[in-house]
Amino acid sequence: MDPVLLDIQNLDVSFVKPEKSAHALRGMDLTIESGEIHALVGESGSGKTVTSMGIMGLIPMPPGRINAGRIVFKGTDLTGLSQAKMRKIRGRQIGMVFQEPARYFNPSLKIGEQIVEMLMLHLGLDKKKAIDQALSFLDVAGMVRSRRVLNSYPHELSGGMKQRAMIAMAICCHPALLIADEPTTALDVTLQRQILQLIRDLKKQFDMGILFISHNLGIVREIADRISVIYAGRIVESAPLNAFFDHTRHPYTRALLRSIPSAKKRGQRLQAISGQVPDAENIPPGCSFHPRCRQAETVCRREMPPTISYGNGHQAACHMIDAHE
Ligand code: SF4
Repeated sequence: MDPVLLDIQNLDVSFVKPEKSAHALRGMDLTIESGEIHALVGESGSGKTVTSMGIMGLIPMPPGRINAGRIVFKGTDLTGLSQAKMRKIRGRQIGMVFQEPARYFNPSLKIGEQIVEMLMLHLGLDKKKAIDQALSFLDVAGMVRSRRVLNSYPHELSGGMKQRAMIAMAICCHPALLIADEPTTALDVTLQRQILQLIRDLKKQFDMGILFISHNLGIVREIADRISVIYAGRIVESAPLNAFFDHTRHPYTRALLRSIPSAKKRGQRLQAISGQVPDAENIPPGCSFHPRCRQAETVCRREMPPTISYGNGHQAACHMIDAHE
């Protein structure tokens, strides 16, 4: 069986309006295998959310437009599917966990009603079986007093409980792929650890592929098998966990590492990255990172760097890697 569950190839997405056009993804490549947590890391506005919307078939078209590329999930190109077919895949084969569960749940329905409805719709279970399965997945998600949670409205649960309930709902149909979009950002440190542990456990228990989206390399270090860094709609570096941290190649990744507390050596000052991610409506020519890059040379301002493979699954896109290694 092909271990590659999701294969995004050269995905190019724009949002086109009469007055302006934004180039959100510019030749995005990313693969996820079953049983792998692949972290997608980048600052706000780098293209992380558009990537997850693309996989879920939720890019509004228009103004969104897929200019090129494929999103191949279990051998099927999702970019060519109708919304009716995508509805059968969303929730059933691809689950999603969001940063803010309050926006995910319908506030006027009990948690149980929402999970049970999903199980009846996607798996065709009768109500009793769906209730049993909902209870067992609330248990899997580490919920104590699952039956009480089942009969609660979303606003009656704490932030951590809502997050666990959302995870239970996302995995209750045994999806092959789980997209976790900043799932711990709104939580305190203790809850963050518990949710990360839960996601690790779920990966093992269900052999799911997981796309873990985050702006925080410190968190990603705790959970990922592979990390890809996205900048201005393009992957600039991708590597298995150890190679990523031990042999970081791209100047942007190095700058990100210098800016996080967990990468800080004792006594070393953290350094913010100067400047901002370019607006998708106004991406600089050449290497889009060049206005912020300390190593930029003339070629960087003129030509987009190709993505080069360095062996053992490590890739990076930078003109100057050999020069400054
Ligand atoms: Fe910096 Fe040039 Fe590399 Fe871009 S291509 S990251 S500007 S050195």
